[in-house]
Amino acid sequence: MGEVFTSRLAGFHKKPLADRLGAIARVTHLSAAEMDDLRGDQGLTVEFANQMIENAVGVFSLSLGLGLNMQVNGRDYLVPMAVEEPSVIAAVTFAAKIVRESGGFVAEADDPIMIGQVQVTNFGDPTVATKALVSHKEQLLAVANSFHPSMVARGGGARDIEVRVLPAPEGARGEPLLVVHLLIDTQEAMGANLINTMCEGIAPLVESLTGGKVFLRILSNLADRRLARATCRIPVTALADFDMSGESIAEGIVQASRFAQADPYRAATHNKGVMNGIDSMAIATGQDWRAIEAGAHAFACRDGQYRPLSTWTLEEAHLVGRIELPLALGIVGGPIKIHPQVQAALKMLRVTSARELSMVMAAVGLAQNFAAVRALGSVGIQKGHMALHARCVAVTAGARGQWVEKVADALVTAGHVKVEKAREILASMMRDEPSPVTGT
Ligand code: NDP
Repeated sequence: MGEVFTSRLAGFHKKPLADRLGAIARVTHLSAAEMDDLRGDQGLTVEFANQMIENAVGVFSLSLGLGLNMQVNGRDYLVPMAVEEPSVIAAVTFAAKIVRESGGFVAEADDPIMIGQVQVTNFGDPTVATKALVSHKEQLLAVANSFHPSMVARGGGARDIEVRVLPAPEGARGEPLLVVHLLIDTQEAMGANLINTMCEGIAPLVESLTGGKVFLRILSNLADRRLARATCRIPVTALADFDMSGESIAEGIVQASRFAQADPYRAATHNKGVMNGIDSMAIATGQDWRAIEAGAHAFACRDGQYRPLSTWTLEEAHLVGRIELPLALGIVGGPIKIHPQVQAALKMLRVTSARELSMVMAAVGLAQNFAAVRALGSVGIQKGHMALHARCVAVTAGARGQWVEKVADALVTAGHVKVEKAREILASMMRDEPSPVTGT
C-alpha cells in the first residue's frame, strides 16, 4: 500500500538523499525506472541531445529539487524545480507551508488561446484592408484550420481574427502597420509550431484580400489571452516571526508591494523573485522558459510602466497576495514527451492539463514572491540566504561529503560567508579531525 499523496513531507530536507528518494517513490508511485529518470541517472543522453539541437557536444545538468507543501485549489502538488540558486526551493517550501495552513492557494487560468501575428504591408487604405479581412473571417479561419485538422478534431484550432492598425514608428511619413491576429486554441500544447504553421498558411489569402505583401508570420509571446492567476489569504497573526508581530511583518510586505508598484527598478527585482519559482518549475517540466520570461515581462509593462506581477494588500486582518501573468505552457510538444526527466517530473506533479500546470506555476510564483518580500520587509534577505549559500561556498573552497555541512555551519557562525574563510576553516577542521572525504 502506498502512502496517501501529500506535499507536506515534514523533515524532508533533513533526510539523507536515499531516504528522500524512497519517500518520493512511496508517495508518488513512480516506478524504479522513473525514479532513476528523476534522479538523472537515466536522463538525457548525448545521443539524444544530438537529435534535439544542432552542433550538440554534450548534456548540461542542473540541480533538481522539490518545492513542498504546495496546495492549490485544495489539491496537493510536489513541485519539481530545476535551479542552480540556493534558497529558492527552501523559500517556496516555507511560503507554501504558511499559505497551506491558511487554506492554500486559489488559482484559475484562461483557456489556452494563443495569438499568431501576420504583418501586412503595401495594403493601401487601412480601413479598406481591415474591412476586407474582417468580412472574410470565416474563410481565414477555415484556411488556418485546414493546416492542422487534428487540432480542430481535439476541440482546438483557430477561433477568431482581429485586425490591428498601428501608427508607423517613423511618424506620419511612414506606412501604418497592419497586423492580423489569429487567435488559436492550442489545447494541451504551448503551440508555437502550430501557430506559426497556421500564420504562414493564411498569408497568401491575407495578401489576396488586402492586395498587400505579408512579411512576418509568427506567434506572439505576449500571450495575454492565456493568463493564469493565483491568490492567497493569510491571517496577519500567522505572520509573526523574528520576534516581530504579524502586523509589522504584514506592513513590511505591503510596503514592498507599494515600492514595486511605484518603481520599475524595484519591480524588476520583485519579478525576478517571482520568476525564480516559475523558471525553475518551467525548466523541470520541459517548458520554453524564454517564452514565459518574454511574456511575463511584456505583460508587466502593459500599462506603459514596468510593474510587479504580484501585489500584496491588507484586507480584514488578512494579508492578501495576488498574481496574474501569461503562462503559455504545454504538457505535450517540444521536448516534453521525449525528455525522460521531464516525463518523471510531470508524473510526480500529477497535472492532467496545461491549464492545471499553469495554475500551479502561478501559485509557485506567488509563493516565491511571498518568501522574498516577507524577508525583505523584515529582517532582510541575507540572513536566510547566506546560510544556504554557505554550502555552495564550502564546496567552492574544496569541501566534499561530510565537510560541506560542517564548513557551512562554521561560516555562518563566523558571520563571514566567503571562499577564503571557508578554505581556512576546512584546512583547520581537517587538521583537527582528519577523516576520509566521502561523496555522500
Ligand atoms: P510541438 O509542435 O512539438 O507539439 C505540439 C503538437 O502536439 C500539436 O501540434 C499536436 O500535433 C500534438 N498534440 C498531441 N496531443 C495534443 C493535445 N492534447 N493538445 C495539443 N496538441 C497535441 O510544440 P508546440 O507547437 O507546442 O511548440 C512548442 C515548441 O516551439 C517549443 O519547443 C518552443 O521552444 C518552440 N518555439 C517557440 C517559439 C517562441 O516561443 N517564440 C518560436 C518557435 C518555436 P498533432 O495534432 O499533429 O498531433
